[in-house]
Parts: sequence; structure tokens; C-alpha cells
Amino acid sequence: MNHLFGNEGLRALDELMRGSPLLAFDFDGTLAPIVASPEAARVSPDLARRLGELAQRLPLAIVTGRGVPDVQGRLGFVPSHIVGSHGAEDLSDTEALRERRVCLDSLRVRLHAAAGPLQHRGVRVEDKGLSVALHYRMARDRGAALAAIDQLLTPGDPAWRRFGGKFVVNVVSRDAPDKAASVRALVERTGADRAFFAGDDLNDEPVFEAAEPHWLTVRVGRDGPRSAAQFFIGSTAEMGALLDHMLGRLATRTAS
Ligand SMILES: [Mg+2]
Repeated sequence: MNHLFGNEGLRALDELMRGSPLLAFDFDGTLAPIVASPEAARVSPDLARRLGELAQRLPLAIVTGRGVPDVQGRLGFVPSHIVGSHGAEDLSDTEALRERRVCLDSLRVRLHAAAGPLQHRGVRVEDKGLSVALHYRMARDRGAALAAIDQLLTPGDPAWRRFGGKFVVNVVSRDAPDKAASVRALVERTGADRAFFAGDDLNDEPVFEAAEPHWLTVRVGRDGPRSAAQFFIGSTAEMGALLDHMLGRLATRTAS
């Protein structure tokens, strides 16, 4: 995996911006730096300004693990599309939303029964409606916290599926689209002929893996040596330069 700002990466970025791309971004760790308290995560005003400019010219989507209402207030600009809960919360499909929410009810019963032991292990439960996140970043003993989560989710349930992230275990309804299916649906819905996607976590890998050869995928951070993304940037601190490259290519396109 090469740095996006190398020759090959910049050529790929040129090629992307010559077409009609969908620009899709994860939120935490991609547009907003990871902070100790998830409540404090925000897109910086500088990034928000650039993203807002891009969103006026191209379809721009946020595809995040957070709930849609949660992320909306953290962006500082209005994207064309937001998909929340790792793909499960696509507001264009209200019927599916209701069913997916109900699918997690059996888990809610288990969570209610196990609230004491989970809290004791330092697991923070976040029910986002369309997904449930079991956070153990702040646990004193992360191994014991993860064991408590495993116990909670065993046996599994045909109504839902689980997947991991950075010190979090997520649960969504079994049939909920993942981020890869969401990005693909957004490409179709917006009439884009290719996609750009940037993400930093395990649940972003399906997008990297399912990307078509003419899409551009970027992993934020070098801590995933086996990532299927085509390129990487070092951290969210390089996102501003990436967006400037995109805006620069758009300006050239308009001028010529
Ligand atoms: Mg992320």
C-alpha cells in the first residue's frame, strides 16, 4: 500500500476527478480525529469548509458507524447523503429501518439482563437504534471486557450479526447492508460512474475489498498493514491536503 501523495496515488486522484465520482467518507478517525471522548469528535472548520465546497459540486456521502442524527451535528457542513450504523441506517428505506430496529430487540433483552456485569467490566453500551455498539476502549482490563461481551452474544441469534472495530463490538440486524453495499447503492442512486472512499477501521475494509478497479480507496493511518485499500494517508491531519487536491482538480476541470 503506497502513500496517496506519491506519483501513483496522485495519478489515480487525477483519474478519479476526471470522471463523475461519488465522494464517500467514514467519520471517526477519517474526517474527525479519534478523541478520548467520542462525544467530543468533530470535523474541524477547515475541513468542513472544503467538504462543503466539494459537496456543492459532487455527490458527497458520509458512511459512518454512528447514528445519522448523531453525526449530523458534528460535520459543520451538509453532505448530500448520510448513511449511519455501518450501512444499516439508510433513511431512503423507512420500511427496512423499522424491521432492522426490531431485529435487535432480542439483544436488548439480553443487554437489560446483563447491564450490571457489563458495567462492572467497563463496557459502555450504545444503542443507536439500527445498531448497538459495545465499547470497551475505556475498560481497565480490555480482555475481560471483551470476554464479557462474548458471553453476552453467545449463543448468536439468527436476527443479528456482530463484527468488531477498534475496541468496540457492533451488532446490526442480519440483513443490514454493510458499508460496501451502502457505497455501491449510493453510486447507483447518484448516477456516479466511480467512487472515492476513505476509512480507517475494520468495518471499512469491505468497501476496500469490494471496490471496482477504477474506484479510489484510501485508508487513513498506517496501522492496518493488511488493508485492502489502494493507498493510505498518514492520519486525519493529511485529509485537508487530500481535499485540496480534489478541489484543485475540479477547478482545473472547470477552467479547461
Ligand atoms: Mg472510522
